[in-house]
Amino acid sequence: MSCDHPDLLPLEEALQRLWEALPAPALAELRAERDDPATARASMDGVALRSAEGSAPRRLLGTLFAGDDPAAFTVLPGTAVRIMTGAALPKGADAIVPVEQLDVEGDSVRPLILAEAGDHVRPQGVQARAGDLLLPGGTPLNAARRALMAQEGRALPLGARIRVAVASTGNELVAHPAPYQIRDSNGPMLAALAQALGAEVELRPSLPDDPPTLAHALREPGNIRILLTSGGVSMGEHDHLPAVLKDLGATLLFHKIRLKPGKPMLAALLGDLLVLGLPGNPVSAYINAQLFLPVALARLEGRAFPDPWRRTRLDAPVKHKGDRPLLHPCRLVEGRLEPLHGKGSADLVTLAQADACAWIEPGGAQEGAKVRYLPVV
Ligand code: AMP
Ligand code: MG
Repeated sequence: MSCDHPDLLPLEEALQRLWEALPAPALAELRAERDDPATARASMDGVALRSAEGSAPRRLLGTLFAGDDPAAFTVLPGTAVRIMTGAALPKGADAIVPVEQLDVEGDSVRPLILAEAGDHVRPQGVQARAGDLLLPGGTPLNAARRALMAQEGRALPLGARIRVAVASTGNELVAHPAPYQIRDSNGPMLAALAQALGAEVELRPSLPDDPPTLAHALREPGNIRILLTSGGVSMGEHDHLPAVLKDLGATLLFHKIRLKPGKPMLAALLGDLLVLGLPGNPVSAYINAQLFLPVALARLEGRAFPDPWRRTRLDAPVKHKGDRPLLHPCRLVEGRLEPLHGKGSADLVTLAQADACAWIEPGGAQEGAKVRYLPVV
């Protein structure tokens, strides 16, 4: 049995704490600048006509494209105007008959259907009226809301990418390892993950387990918003990061969470700098980075709280006797999770061969159980 403290911080609470500790750029209240649409518009390519005239042939006066001034034509009885999607409806017309439902011969057109007033027309103001509240202040930003801001003449400049530096810690990390040393695998992994999440990333040389050197790296981080470290946050005699952060007066957001692997996870604020202190073991570092980094980036960019989880069924049972939720490496086979025989938090081989990490509650999960999982990216 595991000897975890039952009061370890649950993952969701740690994520929420991180979210709330970071400032979000606030979206100002957005009101409609004008009616949307500002004139009645065609929603199909076809012919604009007077519906009351039924299927009688009409004489075509010309064509209106999106962006044309509709004042060029007035649709009098017996006439019609070719019209393209997005063009303003000309005076006199009240319906559009789509191209597919027309019989055209020279400059004469005959509808093959009986149009009704309003067919394929977006009426003026159907989406919003000038002055309507479209988005209340403080709404998280996303691409759709950026589009609406642009539509209302309030386009936002694309924000700069969040600058993230990655620095592993550990005296054992060298480029040409003796049998008792290793290469830095966390650094490249975390840098790739941060880049895939849209950050501007700098992969720095690893730091030694030396408090003054660590303190210097934290005190003078350079022009970055987030420092991703790995290692040095557990209980070993060389795990200096928590004490160094404390000495520097950092605000600790949390240290140690209810998760296996990845319990030693730490997050702290040093002034404006967010330090995500990931555990050193590669699987722990990977999982925590995949959970915490998207939350930090989304918050700082003003986006909504991200949900990285997907759900499907397990192809085989997973035993789990511990009292922390387990993230277990699996292959995805025909949409179902096939558990792998991972050798724990240092087992980068199994992680690299996995497609997903499945969330297993204490007590384990049965074959066929529906579980949530993180895709391995
Ligand atoms: P630590 O939390 O610093 O005690 O590290 C836990 C384990 O992860 C140790 O076996 C370390 O050698 C290993 N480790 C730490 N940093 C890295 C890294 N950057 N790449 C690969 N393994 C690491
Ligand atoms: Mg270490």
